[in-house]
Amino acid sequence: MLNVLDHLPEGLLALESTELHTLVPSLTLIHLQGEMDPPLFISVLLHGNETTSWLVVRSLLKKYGRALPRSVSLLIGNVQAARQRQRHLPDQPDYNRIWAGGDGVEHRMAQLVLQELRSRGVFACLDLHNNTGRNPYYGCIPRLEPDFLSLARLFAPIAVYYTAPQTVLAYAFSAFCPSVILECGLPDLPASTAYGLAFLERCLHLKSLGDVPQTPLELLHTIAVLKVPPEVTLSFDPLTAADLYLPLDLDRWNFQALPTTQAIARIGSQQGCLLALDESGQECTEQFLHQAGGAWYLRQPLIPAMLTLNAEIIRTDCLCYLMERIPSLG
Ligand SMILES: [Zn+2]
Repeated sequence: MLNVLDHLPEGLLALESTELHTLVPSLTLIHLQGEMDPPLFISVLLHGNETTSWLVVRSLLKKYGRALPRSVSLLIGNVQAARQRQRHLPDQPDYNRIWAGGDGVEHRMAQLVLQELRSRGVFACLDLHNNTGRNPYYGCIPRLEPDFLSLARLFAPIAVYYTAPQTVLAYAFSAFCPSVILECGLPDLPASTAYGLAFLERCLHLKSLGDVPQTPLELLHTIAVLKVPPEVTLSFDPLTAADLYLPLDLDRWNFQALPTTQAIARIGSQQGCLLALDESGQECTEQFLHQAGGAWYLRQPLIPAMLTLNAEIIRTDCLCYLMERIPSLG
């Protein structure tokens, strides 16, 4: 069940993400008192293989020890998946899809976390993640309100506004505090850890989100997600038999405007289909994609994110999100 602590277990900050399970065997919430309240809520390792979150928080807590400028409520997520360096284990739900209620053990723990933080009050909710493909640093916000935009600005000059899926942690927290998902690039990179740490330090010292300078922010909005149906085989190698072939360097398109003349995927057989789903989960393939000359193309120029070279992630999550710019708020 959910562990709730008011101190760091002895030796926790010496552990790697693969070792955390030895001291905190399941979802754990740790409240640490600082000078200012309400607390900054920081969530790490909802996805067990996204190590930057733990590296950043470990550095932060080593640096500030018992002298935190603001209280911190730290959620340590899927330590059993982290032990195996996996997003989640085969018999577990995705820990960033359990926040809108449900009957599972994890869903009930998530509700306890929400109840506890809602009653304490939260300065801001920061949920740290990595991407599996090359992407710039960017924040994802579920609302276009000033405090949410300030959090995104403080992190990076690019942000994504999303309204689905509503089962993610940052969406649930947005009901009672400003929240942001921090996409910290590829895992394990020292540069990503340093970038995340600098951001958390800025947050920790902030008296008010109204103090954040109004620097330019490129704001994008997710309008569809591209999926490969489970029965479709895919390959990055043109010499391997497959229904669908993807380019070897497709993650270079992340956050670049993709023209309608660029083939997204080559079709290897009649089974080689791609699906587009809109934010409500309705299929809208015809609206966004078409086939020509044995390949798939966009019908209008759009900006992809989260393209990855990891076929497993493409299978279990998605090929990419498709976005467009929000001009009026940039
Ligand atoms: Zn993640």
